[in-house]
Amino acid sequence: MGKNSIFAQSLDRDRGVTIKSPRELEFMREAGKVVASVKRDLIDSIKPGMKTQELDDIAVECIQSMGAKPSFKGYLGFPRTICVSINEEIVHGIPGERVIQDGDLVSMDVGAVVGGFHGDSALTVGVGSISKEAENLMAVTETALDIGISKARNNARIGDVSHAIQTYIESKGLSVVRQYVGHGIGRALHEEPQIPNFGNLGTGPILRKGMVIAIEPMVNIGGWETEVMADNWTVVTADGSLSAHFEHTLAITDGDAEVLTRI
Ligand code: MG
Ligand code: MG
Repeated sequence: MGKNSIFAQSLDRDRGVTIKSPRELEFMREAGKVVASVKRDLIDSIKPGMKTQELDDIAVECIQSMGAKPSFKGYLGFPRTICVSINEEIVHGIPGERVIQDGDLVSMDVGAVVGGFHGDSALTVGVGSISKEAENLMAVTETALDIGISKARNNARIGDVSHAIQTYIESKGLSVVRQYVGHGIGRALHEEPQIPNFGNLGTGPILRKGMVIAIEPMVNIGGWETEVMADNWTVVTADGSLSAHFEHTLAITDGDAEVLTRI
């Protein structure tokens, strides 16, 4: 076996579906708490005139103070601790010198590791006074996430979650990003199965108690098509329309899912 096949094998193993033990779930709860604290700090701090790098610095400080490690820094070469994506940027924006303006829609994605287990969560906030359309976009995206979570339980199909999210978003005249999807999560940031935000009832893998997944609808005011910017990271709407992103990490149980990244 050559190098490539060994790499492929380990990649495959890293990405497989995993059922977490009670002890592993404890670590995932702790990782979720760290991510929730970072989100709290970001919401409390964000204001017009700030550089996006300052948001990253706040996240670094919070993660370190809680004895955790960032999930994203160095992941596939990503250079910062959080992703900050503004207005038509959907996901994977790199914090830097950009200054946040009054009226911006700012999506922030946070990941942290505790005891080798990841937590992953995102939210979008309006800075200063934002348009009615932007308010509506954020509200629909957050509600779509809640609807998806409500469908995620033992023995449900992933298509049931996907379908509920897509149907709600499209009923509001907005579009769902296809290119990027939710995922299983655990020792690896991205594990199987994929959790698309679009799909058909009664299709896809079955969710089982002990699985932990991240559901993360990305919603655009215009079309669902995306492009990647020249930095090879920042994903934007192809038509330049506004986008919002909400994500939680949750554990599948016999009843309602246990959301691990709630503030
Ligand atoms: Mg995320
Ligand atoms: Mg994610």
